Amino acid sequence: AKQYGHNHFQFYSADASARFQADIVLRSQFQQALDDEELELHYQPIYQLATGRIVGVEALMRWQLADGRNVSPAEFIPLAETTGQIIPASEWALDRACRDSKRLQEFGDLTVAVNVSALQFHRAEFLDYIMETLQRHDLSPRTIELELTESVLMDNTDYAIALLRKLRQTGLQIALDDFGTGFSGLSYLKQLPVTKLKIDQAFTQGIHSHESDEAITRGIIAMAKQLGITTVAEGIENAEQQQTLLELGAELGQGYYFARPMPFDQLVEFIKSANR
Ligand code: C2E
Ligand code: CA
Ligand code: CA
Ligand code: CA
Repeated sequence: AKQYGHNHFQFYSADASARFQADIVLRSQFQQALDDEELELHYQPIYQLATGRIVGVEALMRWQLADGRNVSPAEFIPLAETTGQIIPASEWALDRACRDSKRLQEFGDLTVAVNVSALQFHRAEFLDYIMETLQRHDLSPRTIELELTESVLMDNTDYAIALLRKLRQTGLQIALDDFGTGFSGLSYLKQLPVTKLKIDQAFTQGIHSHESDEAITRGIIAMAKQLGITTVAEGIENAEQQQTLLELGAELGQGYYFARPMPFDQLVEFIKSANR
């Protein structure tokens, strides 16, 4: 048993070391991508479920290596969080999202949602930086929505609530992302000045296979309604899920069933033919 334990330890340590090496490589490749502006933003349309109209889009970062391989944001975002590279990456993304939002204005009142990381949110200059960027693009704060997860807000709740109030006062919209996966009780939601609640795709996808997912989704939607908060169902992959979520009262939805994230130029064409 002792022998086994020893080997076992070596196995883990070699594994951890390999991962560490890979992270170092990825980190310098990501720096290169930042320097050379090789990151991209793709956009996924968000729909009003009752009418099928596109009411907004979510900006999602994309990174393709020189060899053509795409690195998933689920991989590089957490890494960039630990190295601090998320800050310049997010600044680039906000700038790009504002530029594209401006270009979307001729197609109607579309909200552009941008994901915000914990490190970004807790920087003292966060609010000023957003306002400067909006001004630079001559853009109303109303067109931009910040998507924050519960975990971002949990770090320092009092500070987070105060900052959310300030952000809301400027007219920016705030969405609580991945809702239902965090640890916060539903009760603290009423303290949060958010405009939207995004129901995590795990619930959408379990809605026909797990009664608990349906029950939780039903509860979230009912509570959001009471609080005057709009609900968005994430990860809708088929017509049945769309139908059930509509019946449960979700106002908005996004997912592969409607459209995958796509480059901006493609989005423009997509919206032109969809919202006619
Ligand atoms: P998220 O904010 O929850 O974004 C939704 C994710 O679900 C996206 O993955 C999207 O492509 C994917 N998705 C959309 N519809 C469906 C569907 O019907 N089925 C399935 N299975 N997936 C769907 P993506 O683009 O890989 O991003 C993963 C995560 O990385 C995001 O989760 C977000 O947490 C983070 N992320 C992406 N871009 C940014 C960014 O610019 N800044 C920050 N801070 N985080 C970002
Ligand atoms: Ca999001
Ligand atoms: Ca989400
Ligand atoms: Ca997520």
